[in-house]
Amino acid sequence: MSKKPTISRRSLLRDSAAAAAGGAALLAQVNTAFGQAPAVVTQRRFKAWISRGQGPGRTTLHDAVLRPISGRQVVVRTEATNLCYTLVPAVLGLAPPPQPNAQPAPVPGGLAPPPSTRRINDMAVIQGHGGVGIVEAVGPDVRRVQVGDRVCVSGTPHCGACYRCLRGRSDMCQFLSAIGPDDLVAVADLADGTPVYQNSHIGGLAEVMVPFEEWVVPIFTTKPAAEVGMVCGCTSVAGLGATATHALTAIEPASSVAVVGCGPIGLSAVQGARIAGASTIIAIDPIRVRREAALKVGATHALDPNAEGDGLIEKVRSLTTWPTDRLWAGGRNVGGRRPGSGADLVVEAAGLDAVTPKVERGPDPTGILAMQQAYRMTALGGHIVTTGAVRGDISLPGNLFSFGGVTHHSGQAGGCSPMRDIPRFVELLDKGQFDAQTLATSVVPLERLLEGYEEVAYRTTITGIMTA
Ligand SMILES: [Zn+2]
Ligand SMILES: [Zn+2]
Repeated sequence: MSKKPTISRRSLLRDSAAAAAGGAALLAQVNTAFGQAPAVVTQRRFKAWISRGQGPGRTTLHDAVLRPISGRQVVVRTEATNLCYTLVPAVLGLAPPPQPNAQPAPVPGGLAPPPSTRRINDMAVIQGHGGVGIVEAVGPDVRRVQVGDRVCVSGTPHCGACYRCLRGRSDMCQFLSAIGPDDLVAVADLADGTPVYQNSHIGGLAEVMVPFEEWVVPIFTTKPAAEVGMVCGCTSVAGLGATATHALTAIEPASSVAVVGCGPIGLSAVQGARIAGASTIIAIDPIRVRREAALKVGATHALDPNAEGDGLIEKVRSLTTWPTDRLWAGGRNVGGRRPGSGADLVVEAAGLDAVTPKVERGPDPTGILAMQQAYRMTALGGHIVTTGAVRGDISLPGNLFSFGGVTHHSGQAGGCSPMRDIPRFVELLDKGQFDAQTLATSVVPLERLLEGYEEVAYRTTITGIMTA
C-alpha cells in the first residue's frame, strides 16, 4: 500500500512561493486565452512600512523590490488602507496600560496561534489588515479578478469551498487559520536581501499588497479612495457584518439595538442598524466626540458609561420599553425576573485599551466590563454579537446565561461573508446610505502613517485611513 501523501495548506502556500522564485520565465509564457495577463512582475519597486524587533520605533519606511508572483497571488497597487486599532501594538510597539487588578490565570482552551518555528518579531513584516486598490498583475490560476480591477483586500478570506464556507460561515473561512509566522510567504526583498512578509498575507501599509485570491473582492465603484477604504476596512466590514447582513442574526424593522463602543466598528454597526430599520438605536461610548458622531450617523440615544455607572443596564432597559406592558395585548416589560426590556440586539464593539487613551477613558481598560454589560443589557430572548478583543476571561451571571434566552453570536468580521457582503457595503456607500466621512476623521498619506497611527492609538481620532 502506498502512503497517502499529505498536502497541508501551509505547504501549498510555500510551494506556490517557491514556484514563483524559479518560475518567472515559465510564467511569462502563460497564454492569455482565459483573459488573464502573464503573472510576471519583475523588480517592481515600492515603499513599505516594515515592522520588526520590539518597542517604539519598530516600524520604519523602506524601499522594497517585489518578487515574481505565481499561482493564486494578486498584485494590488494600494489606494487606501484603514489603520486598524488591533495593530497598534504591532505598528507602534507601545506598552499596554497598567491593569487595574491582578488578572487571574486564563481558563485553558482559548484561541491561540499554532506553534511556529519562526518568531514574527524577527521577520520584516508589512502590517495592515488589507485595504483597497487596483490590480496590477495576477497569477495564472487567479479567476476572481483581472488586471485593472478595483478590489478590496479583505481582512478575512472567502474561498467558498472549505468546510466552513460550505456551511454558510465564510467569516470563519479556514484559509484564515494559515496566517502564523510559519505560514507567511515572502513577497519582496529589502535592499540588503531581507525577505519581506505581510501580516495575514495581506499587509496594507505599503504601496503594494500581494494577497492570495481568497482575500480579494472585486468592487465596482468610482468613489474616492479614502471613503472606499473606510467602508471596505476590517472595522466597517465588522460593524456592517454584525448588523446589515443577516449572517449571524437579523434586525427586524422597529426593533431596538444597543451598540457598546463607538469606534469605527460601533459607528458602522449604528449605521447598519439604521439601514436595517431599527427604531431605537442606543450608542454607548465614554468619548463625547464619538457619541456625537453616533447621533449624526443614526443613533437615537447616546449614553456615557462613565456617567451612567452601575445604572447603565437599567437605563438601556428603560429606553427599550414597549408601548404597552399588557401581555394579552402583545405587551412586554412587566418586570418579573428583570425590570425593563433590554435591547433586541446588542453589538459589543468596545474591546481593550492597547494604550492609555489621551481622551476620556472607559471604565475598564481590559474591555471585560463592557462585554459583561453588553450581555446584561440584551433582552431576554434577544441576541448579542461580540466583535471586541478583550484582555482576560469573561464571567456572567450563571442563571441569566443559562435561562435568559440570550443568543450569543461570535465570528470574524461580524459574520460578514466577504464576496457576498462587501460589494453590498460598497453599494451602501455609493447610494449615500453609509457615511464614511464621519468615521474617517484622519486621512494621512503613506509618509505620515505613524502620525495617523498614534492618533488611532490614543483615540484622538475616530479612525484613520492611509492613502498611498
Ligand atoms: Zn483589523
Ligand atoms: Zn473557505
